[in-house]
Amino acid sequence: MESNKLISTTQPSLVPRSSKLQKDIRCHQRRSTTCVTSMPNNTNKKTNYVQLYKPIYIADCCRSINAKCSYEKGDEFELIAEINEEYKHLIHLRTNSECIINRRSLQLDSETPLRLGSDDRGVIQRCLLQYNVPGAYLIRRSNTESNSFVLSIGQVSNQRHAEDWHYLIRTDPISHRFYFAQESRLQNISFTSFQQLIQDENVRNLIPLSEIIPCRIEFEEDLWHIPTRNLTFQFPIGKGEFGEVWRALWKHGHRSIPVAVKKLNPLRHDKATIDSFTREIETMKTLRNHFIVAFYGVAQDINKNETLLITELMENGDLKNWLKFHQDVPNEKIIISYAYDVCRGMLFLEQKSCLHRDLACRNLLLSNVGKTIKIADFGLSTIINKDDFLQREEVYSNKVPIRWTAPEVLQDRANYSIKSDVWSFGIVLIEIWLKGDDPYPEEKSFDSIRALVFSGYVHLRPSKCSKQFYNRLILPCLYYESYQRPSFKTLGERLNQWNQEKDEYDRLNSLCVK
Ligand code: ATP
Repeated sequence: MESNKLISTTQPSLVPRSSKLQKDIRCHQRRSTTCVTSMPNNTNKKTNYVQLYKPIYIADCCRSINAKCSYEKGDEFELIAEINEEYKHLIHLRTNSECIINRRSLQLDSETPLRLGSDDRGVIQRCLLQYNVPGAYLIRRSNTESNSFVLSIGQVSNQRHAEDWHYLIRTDPISHRFYFAQESRLQNISFTSFQQLIQDENVRNLIPLSEIIPCRIEFEEDLWHIPTRNLTFQFPIGKGEFGEVWRALWKHGHRSIPVAVKKLNPLRHDKATIDSFTREIETMKTLRNHFIVAFYGVAQDINKNETLLITELMENGDLKNWLKFHQDVPNEKIIISYAYDVCRGMLFLEQKSCLHRDLACRNLLLSNVGKTIKIADFGLSTIINKDDFLQREEVYSNKVPIRWTAPEVLQDRANYSIKSDVWSFGIVLIEIWLKGDDPYPEEKSFDSIRALVFSGYVHLRPSKCSKQFYNRLILPCLYYESYQRPSFKTLGERLNQWNQEKDEYDRLNSLCVK
């Protein structure tokens, strides 16, 4: 996106460079501008709603001034500000450049599928769930990639085991045409406007679009509130620091969605545990990614005095247990794919300035086909904010998972960084090769582990792990100096490349066998 500067036009005198306009622009450029508002309804009860709409205009004619301010008839623009009765300040979606255009050359697009009022995937997911119409869709901005859009579709689950689909759309920098960035079956489709996209027969044959989601989605109560009466508890599936985790069905409209419910009774826990639970809820609200367990909401069971955290159900539970009961793992190919999933989830956390601080197999959950790993348990996580040092100190008074913790953090908890999460990731890889056994199996006391790590000792290669895997992936994560450790981006690239090499090797091998 352009900076706060206005782009010069043919009629520069018409552009008021007032502070108000500059302020409008800055507001516009601030991301994640979700508008969750409440208003009284007829019965005087408050209704909350999420405003998804932002005005979109279509060009009535074409204009060619310079590369930045040229557009075609039918191009779409997002409104930044009304300059005066005649001129509007807009963003040209295809080129992402700012333009000042006479309103006579524009038409308000009343049929637009664009809903740019929120780019928060969590909020969008919740709106799609609330609207509850299979195939209902919208197009929003991506909140992880600037200048990209996402086509989000609700409830088309069964085959894909997901409640919603999200297709990333980028713009080709040369042709300035939009295209689908990730789905190979959509790779030949490109378009110049989002209206054109949703009218395209080829697209509609491949993606089950039904209707555009309304501009405003209403909620009876808070966006994240789930009424306890809509939950049917089935059986316990785990036990953690806070209490039991249950499998339940969440009745939502005509559907029943399987969910995991983490329960906390505040009367049975100390302040640190309650704080940790609250932090987990607050963090999960802001994180939405395919490799992070999805947060659905919170319920209050008044009778039992319990707070319930409701998330996506991961049918195969945690990785530690899974490894113990499955003979076919560890197997290098599967481990590479698991590690790649974790890397992608961690990369997303890094982009969100979030440190996990408790990366371990017990906190990695497996999907129902056992193919995807997602990161869970944000009880120790923190969003890095340079101004809240005191708050961070408070957080650090919690217990530390010693076996997974980097030396600089064992030294001083204020040293937590994404590179200490990289250290934990290296230990997770060891834990996987140990089939879920605790790392440093010989060491029984925390003091001896601490002393070992401080002495510069590096965890030995597990017997089943190849030298290549150990040297290429594990050792770099366990460098004593945090700055020498690779980033999750580099690790992800290494894993992806290795995965592809392995596929190619398998393909050639199968040809030889034939
Ligand atoms: P820790 O002790 O590391 O803090 P925890 O106490 O937070 O972990 P929980 O997150 O409460 O642990 O989870 C306990 C167990 O419940 C997990 O190990 C897992 O087996 C199961 N579990 C938790 N969440 C889910 C989920 N979304 N889907 C399936 N199983 C889950």
